Amino acid sequence: MIDKDYTVLLDQCIHCGLCLPACPTYAAYQTEMDSPRGRIALMRAASEGRVQLDGAFAEHIELCLGCRACETACPSGVQYGALVEVAREEIHALRRSDRAEQAIRRLALHDLLPHTERLRTVARALTLYQRSGLQALVRRTRALPDPLQEMESLLPPLSLDYPDYDRPAPAMGERRGAVAFFHGCIQDAFFAGVNQASIRVLQRNGFDVHFPAAQTCCGAAHSHTGEMELARDLARRNLDAFDPDQYVAIINNAGGCGAALKEYDHLLADDPDYADAARRFVAKVQDITEFLAANLHNPPTGSLDLRVTYADSCHLRHVQHVVQQPRDLLRAISGLTLVELVQPDACCGSAGVYNLVHPDTAGLVLNAKLADVETTAADVIAITNTGCHMQLLHGERKAGLDAKVMHVVELLDLAYGDASPTNVR
Ligand code: SF4
Ligand code: SF4
Repeated sequence: MIDKDYTVLLDQCIHCGLCLPACPTYAAYQTEMDSPRGRIALMRAASEGRVQLDGAFAEHIELCLGCRACETACPSGVQYGALVEVAREEIHALRRSDRAEQAIRRLALHDLLPHTERLRTVARALTLYQRSGLQALVRRTRALPDPLQEMESLLPPLSLDYPDYDRPAPAMGERRGAVAFFHGCIQDAFFAGVNQASIRVLQRNGFDVHFPAAQTCCGAAHSHTGEMELARDLARRNLDAFDPDQYVAIINNAGGCGAALKEYDHLLADDPDYADAARRFVAKVQDITEFLAANLHNPPTGSLDLRVTYADSCHLRHVQHVVQQPRDLLRAISGLTLVELVQPDACCGSAGVYNLVHPDTAGLVLNAKLADVETTAADVIAITNTGCHMQLLHGERKAGLDAKVMHVVELLDLAYGDASPTNVR
């Protein structure tokens, strides 16, 4: 870990502590080592050989949600995301001998996430499980062993109404250009309705929507868990799949995926064959709310009499700095009342697979979020990320709250009259 660039990044921390109030794990435990400043001190100690990489170091680094709220709060420009990726890669290297962990990683990160068809097969099987009544029984009796029961509780209601990616979806009305659509992996398999809504809303605003066939998972889960080589491999495959010169923009609808896509230039900065392609690709990547806020050429005319609160995706807000655009789109819907949370930027505890690996801490973070949601008396929690969608659906069910969880584009789609109103209430 002792590397000149890494030391320069560590040196940017001036120990002021202004990041502490923004950190959800510090809020949960009030311990310095579970704060950004404490973790940076641990990274420095490790880089100087004063602490071992296993034990307490690994424990505190792994308890970090990777939400990057500390980057927004930091007056010194500390690139915490880059620092924690290196630390996790080191921890991962130490654990290569743990066969069980390697097998799970291989299954999830290598054999499933990069394969759209395999994930859809899993989704089809899970749909049968949901429709057969078995899911209701499992949830009532808590029949599964703990880690599996926790995983099961995150399963959203599935629809197999997948978009047709074999041909472009044509613009409606005046044509304004062509966009490429990044459909994601979990988003595609488990939230087909969000992708359907995204495509329809882009079409309604005059864009042909293309689906480059060779695209794959963005690699966010891989880089967050220290699998940097796999993350780089997926990034190269996406760069081969998308030709940025053909499109006005490359659109995605999940804050975590978009953040990873927008960081391909950093990820591949040292790859002479891909560094330039990565820069050109990144220049075209936009979150769908960012793109639509600037390209809402045909605003929806339908009215939605709903009270809606918006829960920022950490990676959309703190990494992509897209804050106002989702709110502007919600305000463009007639009849809809937007009610802000007290802490709209606080993490919900999803953070990729964090809620599976650290269910206790994720539960504390989620409870704080749900308490904030409850005070708004909202009919709908609007989200912009797949992980938040799953986590808040799970939280709502657990807490017995009534609010629905919907992506911002699903609300727009509903206001165009393209979706069934039974989706809400
Ligand atoms: S990324 Fe989030 S959880 Fe991790 S140190 Fe920063 S604020 Fe805390
Ligand atoms: S706000 Fe930035 S400089 Fe201050 S302690 Fe946190 S990471 Fe270090």
